[in-house]
This record gives sequence, C-alpha cells and structure tokens, in this order.
Amino acid sequence: MRKEDMAGVKDNVLKILSWLPGYVELVAAAKGRRVEEVLEAIDNGVRIIGENYLQESEEKFSVIGAKAKWHFIGHLQKNKVKKAIKIFDVIETIDSIEIAEAIDKASAAIGKVMEVFIEVNSAREKNKSGVLPEGAEALARHILELKNIKLTGLMTMGPVIENPEGYRPYFKETKKLFDKIRITHDIKYLSMGMSDSYHIAVQEGANLVRIGTAIFGPS
Ligand SMILES: *Cc1c(COP(=O)(O)O)cnc(C)c1O
Repeated sequence: MRKEDMAGVKDNVLKILSWLPGYVELVAAAKGRRVEEVLEAIDNGVRIIGENYLQESEEKFSVIGAKAKWHFIGHLQKNKVKKAIKIFDVIETIDSIEIAEAIDKASAAIGKVMEVFIEVNSAREKNKSGVLPEGAEALARHILELKNIKLTGLMTMGPVIENPEGYRPYFKETKKLFDKIRITHDIKYLSMGMSDSYHIAVQEGANLVRIGTAIFGPS
C-alpha cells in the first residue's frame, strides 16, 4: 500500500464525515479492500464496516474484530448463515421468509438476537435481490413473530444508473415505505445511498449510507 493511497482514504473519510449530518451513520463498503485500508478508515472515524462476502469478512474480522461494527450488505446464502451471525451486528439484506427463518434458527442456537434490515427492490428489477415494495410489510410482520431476529431498518440499492438524480424516485418510494412500516414496527434505520448517490439519499431521508469508492478509490 502506497502512502498516497492511505492519505487518500483519510482525506476521503474526513470529507464525507464532515458533509454528513450528525444523525447519518456511515458504513464503509469494504469489499475487495485490504485490511490496512479498512483500518485507516477506522482510524479516521469510520465506525461501521459493510461486507458483501462471508469469506472475505472472516479474514478482515480476524484482524479488526470489535474495532468496528459489521454490517452484511451482500446476498446471504442459507448455507452461510451460521458463520455470518457470528461476525455481523446487522444483516441488511433480508428478502425472504426462508432466509429470515434460517437466521432466526441459527441465532437461537447460539443465544443471539440478530439485528436485520429488509432489503427492498425499489426499482422492481427482475433477477435482483430484495422484496418488492408491496411485499415488505408482510415480511416485516412475519419477522415480528420470530424471537431471535429483530427488524430495525430497511435497505435499498436502487437501479444502476449514470445520472445520480435518477435515484431520487426510488429513494422517495423507499422512504414512504419506511414511514408506513414504522407506524407498526419499531424500526429506526433507512439504509440507502452509495458513492454517487449519498447526497441525494440523505436529502430523501436516509440515516445510514453505504460508501465504498468515495472512501477507498476506484476498485
Ligand atoms: C459496493 C456496495 C456499496 C458501495 O458502492 P460504492 O459505489 O463503491 O460506494 C454499497 N452497497 C452495497 C450493497 C454494495 O455492494
């Protein structure tokens, strides 16, 4: 790792943290990044690491451990649940009753109550993960019946688009859904916005943003 790159991480984190309103939490999306880079981000104020892949997160967790909170932001396969619940503080990507029940069962076995978000497929894209907006409430009600997982938020990605303004309608729709579900459920976090869209996401009500490239540089 070159010195300039590490200075870049520091400057980027400080810039982002100074822009974000105080109530917005920053998740550093660290897929494909080295432990040194992630530690540099933590040293400069990052409190939450987001990971997409279990094996990669196990390697980083073994070095970094409790210096940060860990959010799982990738697609979780059922056969990885047992390992994932040992590392992660929050799993942001629940999109089916099956995966919710698998996490509940595995968490009960180790005496943990796993915090989860529902992932919403706000752009209604085929073959993408996340529940359709109209399916989120039913999933939330089902999660309420499970003793070893606790629903605390919603997460959305939005479509892949060039112009960040294009995200706005999807963020607006997810915020509406968040406000609706909040009437009957004790949820607090709305996770939306990435490097190119976090300004817009915060304007639209996000209180947790997931940022990779704008912290660590292009991968
Ligand atoms: C990679 C990733 C991010 C961060 O994306 P950047 O464009 O690099 O900021 C956010 N959320 C999820 C789910 C990701 O996989």
